[in-house]
Amino acid sequence: MLDKKINELKDYLKKYEKLNQAIALIYWDMRTNMPEKAGENRGELLQYLSEESFKMLTSDTVKNFIEDLSPYKDKMNKLQCRMLEELERKYNETKKIPQEKYVEFVGICSNAEIAWEKAKEAKDFEIFKPHLEKVVKYTQEFIEYWGYNNDKYDTLLDKYELGLTTEKLDKIFNELKVGIIEILSKIKESSKNINRDFLYGHFNAEKQKELSLRVLEKIGFDMKAGRLDVSVHPFTTNFGNKDVRLTTNYHEDEFTSALFSTIHEGGHGIYEQNISDDLEGTGLQIGASMAIHESQSRFYENILGRSKEFCSYLLPLAKEYFDDFKNVSLDEFYEAMNYVEASLIRTEADELTYGLHIIIRYEIEKDLINGRIKVEDLKKMWNKKYREYLGVEPKNDAEGILQDMHWSDGSFGYFPSYALGNLYGAQFLNTLINEKPDIFEDLKEGKFTEINEWLKEKVHRHGALYTPNELIKNITGEELNPKYFIEYLKNKYYRIYNVK
Ligand SMILES: [Zn+2]
Repeated sequence: MLDKKINELKDYLKKYEKLNQAIALIYWDMRTNMPEKAGENRGELLQYLSEESFKMLTSDTVKNFIEDLSPYKDKMNKLQCRMLEELERKYNETKKIPQEKYVEFVGICSNAEIAWEKAKEAKDFEIFKPHLEKVVKYTQEFIEYWGYNNDKYDTLLDKYELGLTTEKLDKIFNELKVGIIEILSKIKESSKNINRDFLYGHFNAEKQKELSLRVLEKIGFDMKAGRLDVSVHPFTTNFGNKDVRLTTNYHEDEFTSALFSTIHEGGHGIYEQNISDDLEGTGLQIGASMAIHESQSRFYENILGRSKEFCSYLLPLAKEYFDDFKNVSLDEFYEAMNYVEASLIRTEADELTYGLHIIIRYEIEKDLINGRIKVEDLKKMWNKKYREYLGVEPKNDAEGILQDMHWSDGSFGYFPSYALGNLYGAQFLNTLINEKPDIFEDLKEGKFTEINEWLKEKVHRHGALYTPNELIKNITGEELNPKYFIEYLKNKYYRIYNVK
């Protein structure tokens, strides 16, 4: 009976996955190739298919699967247990909200997104403020429907990172904050001058594309199971593990942006391509969490991509395409790739200061969702924290509180994933180096095979079979610990900036 029911569920989930793949493909097309005039029709199409997907997830069929299978939990294997657990999670997340509330919320977010764009353009938070107030109010209401234990924000964290709580995250982020601020203050005192002039100039987009594609294949992205296109904001989307689509954006006035966003998205893509075929139709053929996904993209982008070893492979390649690097030495190239600067814009932040941008957002979101601060206080809080943690102050709202779109669609609780990705990555790195001490030597020749095999075996192939907490414990023997990332930062940046 159990196996029969599980197979029925798999058939149902496969259809649900196919429908969602079709939706994702339409979104991909909208962001890469869609003709300008097609917008309205495309919106209707997406709305129709999204409603169908919503119906499939919240149907009585799913309710019956959950009810029928729940009594057999003791008899289920790991895969079956996780399948049921994830299905219940998704079902409850949508089903607990009254449908009319949900529809209202979708409308509010869509207006908020338009207002956010206008506000950012006008550099005026006041335009966005009334919309944000509504988004926050609905999010707070939803938390009441979903339920919470100690902290309302826990419910949001748990959506993106199963099992994470503010109690745990406060400890992790406090340690991280102290660590980054200490390193940053030493760097500020350093007399080291890093020249980055050669990264700016004119870099032909076609040539950048050729270089990006070559690097993408080198790092192990399978071009027969994926592609690279152009969009305004780089992203990765996939329809199963054999069709993984990445985008990048070429800026002709500088060298690193397109290349490293390609490597970043490539890391997301390699993860998706390596998830086991066996997980099709289980709802688990996805990344273990947003933070684990981000750990992989940042592993390729920063830990591998900006390593001295890989730079020694990359520099001669860059010289093939651009004369700008003719007289640049490896040290100069490596240091320029890892230049540190306390700055205002999160998406342009370096590997070291990035975490502070996230911690600021986390602290603000937590207070906002718990009603300890109001939307009208946000701008003041934002600017104060930027002054305190990074020593910089926005000249206007566009480079301050309006820089990210996440709040316009109610993605509260998402930001921490970005910083946690760095922490997971460094902890994986520590285990990798213990097991294979000379592995970075391979990068000098642009060889990623062994590293990829290790990541595939330990992380990628399992998809969401394990929770993030199980995964990090299985691989490294302990729970997430920020000390590995702080050690990694100290090792790297103290050397670059000649400080101790
Ligand atoms: Zn990413």
